[in-house]
Amino acid sequence: MRISSNFDSGNIQVISATSPQDIQLSICKDNQSEFYQWFHFKLDTTAFVSHGITIKNLAKSAYPDGWQNYQAVASYDRQEWFRVESEFDGDNLVIQHTPEFPQVYYAYFAPYSYERHLDLLAWAQQSEQCKPYHLGETLDGRDMSLLIIGEPAEGKKSIWVTARQHPGETMAEWLVEGFLHRLLDEDDGLAKWLLDKAVFYVVPNMNPDGSARGHLRTNAKGVNLNREWQTPSIENSPEVYFVKQKMQEVGVDMFLDVHGDEALPYNFVAGCEGNPNYNERLQGLESSFKQALLTATPEFQDTYGYEKDKPGESNLTVAANAIGHEFDCLSYTLEMPFKDNIELPDAVYGWSPIRCKQLGEDVMVAMRSIVDMLR
Ligand SMILES: [Zn+2]
Repeated sequence: MRISSNFDSGNIQVISATSPQDIQLSICKDNQSEFYQWFHFKLDTTAFVSHGITIKNLAKSAYPDGWQNYQAVASYDRQEWFRVESEFDGDNLVIQHTPEFPQVYYAYFAPYSYERHLDLLAWAQQSEQCKPYHLGETLDGRDMSLLIIGEPAEGKKSIWVTARQHPGETMAEWLVEGFLHRLLDEDDGLAKWLLDKAVFYVVPNMNPDGSARGHLRTNAKGVNLNREWQTPSIENSPEVYFVKQKMQEVGVDMFLDVHGDEALPYNFVAGCEGNPNYNERLQGLESSFKQALLTATPEFQDTYGYEKDKPGESNLTVAANAIGHEFDCLSYTLEMPFKDNIELPDAVYGWSPIRCKQLGEDVMVAMRSIVDMLR
C-alpha cells in the first residue's frame, strides 16, 4: 500500500498503514494556522479488498460538527466523485471502502484543481463578452484573476461574484463554473438580457495559493481572507486588497460571495441585516432575490442557516458585510453543503459538482428579479 498527497490540493499525513483494515491518517494544518479539515489523498493498493481508513484527531478540526452524518468522496478517474461509507465517533472518521481499481482518490469534497481553474479562465476569454483581467499576484506568485463580462456603459449595474476565499470550499468554484457557462452562452436569452443591464465581475478563485496547498480556510500565510475586508494589506491579504481596489474603481451594485458550510446540510444565504447602514431598500432587495431563488429551485431554502446578526452587530471584516456596507448594495454570502441538501438527498453523490453548477445557473434567474432595482 502507498498513500500520497504530493499533488494539487493534496493533504494527508500517514500515521501508520500496516494492513488494509488498519490505515491511520491525520490532516495537516493550513500553513501558519490552526485550521484543518480539508483532505485529499491517493491510495495505491489491491482492488476488491475491503479497506478501513481512519482519519484521526478530528475533535480539534475547524468544524467537528462537519463530520457528523458526513460521507467522504472517492474517485477512480478524478472526474466522478462518489460518496463512501464513513462513520464519525467524535474524534475519528472511519471510511469503509472496497476499491474496484488499484488506485483510488479520497477527498473532503470533489476537488477543483488549479489546472481546472486555469482551464476555466482560458475557456471564458474566448467569449466576445469576456475580458480576462490581471488583478495582481498572490504571496506564492500565482495570478489573481478577474473575468469582466459585458460591455461597461452608462447606467449599467456592476455585479460582483467571488468564490473560494476559503480554498477547501471547492463547491464555490464549481458553482461559478455553472454560472459562467450560462452567462457566456450566446444562445441563452437570460444571459443576453442580463448583459444588456449589467457588467459582471467574477473572481472564480479568491485564494489560489490556499487551494493548491490543500488548505481549508487560509492563504499561503495562514490568513483567513474572509476576515480581511476592513483592512486588507499587500503583505497579508493581497488577494482581498486587489479585489477591493478594483471594486472601488468600478463600483458594486450587487455582491455575491460564494462559500461552503461544513456542518449544515442545506443551501442558504446570509445577509447584511447587522450592518450599520442596513435599511428598507436593502431588506427589499435581499428578500426579492431570496424569493426568486426559492422559486427557481428547491435546492435553495430559507428555513435553516446562520443566526441573524442583531442590528449594528455585524462583523465588518467579513466580505459580504464589508462590501454591503461600503457600497450600500445588495450583498449576500451564499453557502452550500459539504454533505448534501437533506431536503433532496442523493445517496450516491450527495451535494456534487453538477448540482453546484446547476445552482450557479439558477442564481442567474434570481438576479433577473432584482437587476432593475439595484440602484
Ligand atoms: Zn467559507
